[in-house]
Amino acid sequence: MTEARRFLVRTFGCQMNEHDSERIASVLAGEGMVRTDDLQEADVVVLNTCCIRQNADDKLYGNLGQLKSEKDRRPGLEIAVGGCLAQKDREALLVRAPHLSAVFGTHNVARVGALLELARRTGEPVLEVLDAPGEDEGTDFASAMAVRHDQPYAAWVTIQVGCNNSCAFCIVPEVRGPEVSRPFGELRAELERLAARGTVEITLLGQNVNSYGRDLTTRWRSSTDRAAQAWAAGDRWVGEGASRSRPLFADLLRELSAVPGIGRIRFTSPHPKDLRPETISAMAESPAVCEQLHLPLQSGSDRILAAMRRGYTAERYLGLVAQARAAINDLAVTTDIIVGFPGETEDDFARTLEVASEVSYDSAFTFIFSPRPGTRAAQMEELYVAPEVIADRFERLKVVIERSALAHNRARVGTVEEVIVEGPSKQDPRVLSGRTRQGKLVHFTPPDDNKLVPGTFVGVRIDYGAPHHLVGTLVSADERHLRNPREHIPVTSG
Ligand code: SF4
Repeated sequence: MTEARRFLVRTFGCQMNEHDSERIASVLAGEGMVRTDDLQEADVVVLNTCCIRQNADDKLYGNLGQLKSEKDRRPGLEIAVGGCLAQKDREALLVRAPHLSAVFGTHNVARVGALLELARRTGEPVLEVLDAPGEDEGTDFASAMAVRHDQPYAAWVTIQVGCNNSCAFCIVPEVRGPEVSRPFGELRAELERLAARGTVEITLLGQNVNSYGRDLTTRWRSSTDRAAQAWAAGDRWVGEGASRSRPLFADLLRELSAVPGIGRIRFTSPHPKDLRPETISAMAESPAVCEQLHLPLQSGSDRILAAMRRGYTAERYLGLVAQARAAINDLAVTTDIIVGFPGETEDDFARTLEVASEVSYDSAFTFIFSPRPGTRAAQMEELYVAPEVIADRFERLKVVIERSALAHNRARVGTVEEVIVEGPSKQDPRVLSGRTRQGKLVHFTPPDDNKLVPGTFVGVRIDYGAPHHLVGTLVSADERHLRNPREHIPVTSG
């Protein structure tokens, strides 16, 4: 019997890319290949790329250089590159790295196996990059491909691809195309399937989840999706939304939260300009939706926000956070902030510090501005901020974020949190790690006869809070001890 061929997938980028990597892995596994994390035993290496930040493509080209030596040693090794950077660079990638077997775009993920096969047959590298989703609706939304390799109890579910915005620093609209939402009924069915196979936590993915459904009205007129037609016909098949001509993200949250067995729903990312009161209410009233709102700020200066073409002001942003905090008990708020956008003055940055301080974030991803070729911001060269100024601002912002993160985490000391077990801690395998509903990392010591498998819900009393994690003690997982008991979640005693 011939041994199955092995594939390795490396991801450079965001959660959307990680999700695509799981889809790539599903396609290759579906062709009888076996996944490996060891380059030495891989017959196929797929690099799934992101072009949002410079260091992702630096990493890609660094990796391609290393893989060239491996290919020189093992000529049978097949290397493919997919994702945003492949979508953007296309032929240029093959020119820079002629040792590639295939280059495929963000809309061609489901074809990765076929492309590699074609390259193998012809002995020539293959390039396939569609500019928009293919005729086959499943191309971008391949179902049953969502379970996470690293956390089998959790899954990513793409609800929408593409983006209709035009943020000056971002290349996504160019490489992912306009927004395409996935039909409502199909999403509900996917969650039911995932729940049936033991998935308890879902992260809904989209470039701007708050605009989910905008494109559905016209598509549904010709759709064969029964639920979609019911919606279009005004049938009250789902909540209050039936009187509208299209579903809102809020309707989706309510619908998916009702799927039995799904204990936690998270989503990323909502654009502040499209965050509606209906979404905040749906978060507050849908038991499975976690008390966590990731709301990208990017800058606290109205002048810079306008230059970024973000479509909101700092005041509006602060109003949204206040509304969300008033409606949702114990809400954790996290964000993304770019430091050193072209033209950012000390005054602009002072506004960012003020807003960050006023919001009091639980955590933040802070980024140093890096120009992406093809974006408006990349053409503002004369306004670039000096690297040493950016570095200084970056450190000052970090201090503000860490201060509030620490205050929030210390405030949890003494509470008992509902924690989902992720597995042994990366630092110390004798310790277990898990996440609270707010997405906070918790470390705790398991019982001697540890039977706490990943995906188990437990109660942990918090003893210590640091800026980026909590430390606690496993307590009797009696539902009465849990802050957010969910009747349909099997709670396992420690
Ligand atoms: S909303 Fe802005 S930052 Fe987000 S994907 Fe769209 S263009 Fe990029």
